[in-house]
Amino acid sequence: MRRTADVVVIGAGAVGAACAYFAARAGLRVHVVERGQIVSGTTSACEGNLLVSDKEAGHELDLALYSHQVWREDLAEFGGLWEFENKGGLVVSSSDAGARALAALTVRQRAAGIEVRNVPAEQICDYEPHLTDGLAAAAFYPQDCQVQPMLMAAHLLRLARTMGAEVSTGTAVTGFRRSGDRVIGVMTSRGEIHAAHVVNAAGTWTGDVAAMAGVDVPILPRRGFVLVTEPLPRTVHHKVYAGEYVASTLSSDEGLQTSTVIEGTQAGTVLIGSSRERVGFDRTVSLPALREMAGKALALYPTLARVKIMRTYLGFRPYCPDHLPVIGHDPRAPGLWHASGHEGAGIGLSVGTAKLVVQAMTDRPTDLDLTPFAPERFAQVEVQ
Ligand SMILES: Cc1cc2nc3c(=O)[nH]c(=O)nc-3n(C[C@H](O)[C@H](O)[C@H](O)COP(=O)(O)OP(=O)(O)OC[C@H]3O[C@@H](n4cnc5c(N)ncnc54)[C@H](O)[C@@H]3O)c2cc1C
Repeated sequence: MRRTADVVVIGAGAVGAACAYFAARAGLRVHVVERGQIVSGTTSACEGNLLVSDKEAGHELDLALYSHQVWREDLAEFGGLWEFENKGGLVVSSSDAGARALAALTVRQRAAGIEVRNVPAEQICDYEPHLTDGLAAAAFYPQDCQVQPMLMAAHLLRLARTMGAEVSTGTAVTGFRRSGDRVIGVMTSRGEIHAAHVVNAAGTWTGDVAAMAGVDVPILPRRGFVLVTEPLPRTVHHKVYAGEYVASTLSSDEGLQTSTVIEGTQAGTVLIGSSRERVGFDRTVSLPALREMAGKALALYPTLARVKIMRTYLGFRPYCPDHLPVIGHDPRAPGLWHASGHEGAGIGLSVGTAKLVVQAMTDRPTDLDLTPFAPERFAQVEVQ
């Protein structure tokens, strides 16, 4: 194992992989340290939607629009490696009240720079022929895309390696090396690595890693299940979800919330979400959650009633109390950076996050102001 690097990245999920790629591309000597295997965290237990449609105007949307630019420009040549699909998203409403709320949302989103087309009820079947009849309205978002998250992270790590990065799996970070206040490397289960910069990309476990450096970063697990159907001929053409999904992503409730999110994959399976609940790291399969998700999916796609569910899986979204990720240098532990807390959008936001962190780390102006994502912003916030 190499004992010195310019930057150590903790965690080989989507965010850590993207940080490794952009740091290596900037000419830095990178060492990724992962306690499990690559993508052994939430990146292997999610879906791969890169959405702008589920965001209101604000800092997260700014980061999503920036990340879209990074996916389409910096990483365009690699899209085929991770099944990048510019499929667009369709948000549907089943009631008149929902349709009015959706119309109002699209007005705000358009003003914030999102491309969106309002779709009257009679045109919904042109987008999705298998959707149920009787929906009140929809909105189509051409910027919404999809990737296969595990392929994306694995290939970004491979590309980083071709530029000299080292990746140590089965290696847990157990502490930090300090010189005074300054972080100058990490201690691991397989020895020490010295580095001028350490990036904490430990996803839902970011708080534990931060605590080893004596700083508080309040990231909590928010559990979600996904149902996976047997492979089908193309049934769901876009990313399709119900209007109430936006509200559930923004809610801070601990109790179970479900809202329909459906998409097809290149393998032919259909992924059915979504659920959100704060139950710590409890991995018990919840039949009530799965039943509710399946029922809501059938209400939108009655044809799925004849289809078998092949498997289910669950993951823990890295959740921040203010629903914004934690990105940037931590002045409480100079030398330590955080790139984490993206909750249900960490695949989409990973690449923009990584590019911004590396810009800041190499003393270049950042394309987006990182102040709203500052790690020390929680000092005044009570964690729920
Ligand atoms: C059901 C579900 C659906 C989702 N759908 C989407 C979606 O459609 N689009 C989207 O953008 N996002 C989605 N997400 C969110 C997304 O999965 C996460 O935001 C993202 O995977 C977080 O990536 P990460 O790299 O930050 O964390 P992770 O993938 O969890 O990686 C962190 C890594 O750090 C490692 N680690 C932790 N502690 C240590 C240590 N001490 N030493 C060494 N290594 C350590 C872990 O082993 C892990 O591999 C979904 C999440 C869930 C649960």
